[in-house]
Amino acid sequence: MKILLLSLLTAISCSFISPIIDSNMTFEEAIKGSKAPQDVIDSIEILNVKYISFDGKLHSGQIVVRKSVSDDVQAIFELILKEKFPVGKCVPIVQYGWSDSASMADNNSSAFNYRTIAGTNRLSPHSFGRAVDINPRQNPVVYANGRVSPKGAKYDIKKPGTFSSNSPIVKEFERRGWRWGGTFKSFKDNHHFDKN
Ligand SMILES: [Zn+2]
Repeated sequence: MKILLLSLLTAISCSFISPIIDSNMTFEEAIKGSKAPQDVIDSIEILNVKYISFDGKLHSGQIVVRKSVSDDVQAIFELILKEKFPVGKCVPIVQYGWSDSASMADNNSSAFNYRTIAGTNRLSPHSFGRAVDINPRQNPVVYANGRVSPKGAKYDIKKPGTFSSNSPIVKEFERRGWRWGGTFKSFKDNHHFDKN
């Protein structure tokens, strides 16, 4: 009886367990200092998402996305949690001074960042919040010459938190009309998803 009561209490307290807070910003804080024009700012919003991180604990973070894709992103994060697919952390990129490389080096997952595509002067789909990057350290960019970004990362599809064409998360993104960067021709952007 005592054991039964104890396990019941444990079950109850676990279901109310409060997550580790990775990010808890207001929308204004999350866009502070962005170079995005007002029409872009008006088209984005901040989402609260929950995920299991690599410490095996429940975390709560935030992601800034285009309003037209926020249902997709919310649903995908629900799947990520259900699948217990580990996500390092989700913190709006303002925390990294709008530096994509600093965010990637910290294995941060993010979406909106008004910036050009690395090595070009074309605006990235991240500029409009319609691209999401998840776990750059597990899912680095791999260039044709073998260079990897972020530096020192290794792409190994057997490791937790890594995407492959068979990953249920990748399949769910694709079912919803998103492109996975792991299917790009000239280089593989394994942490990247975008939708037109
Ligand atoms: Zn990206």
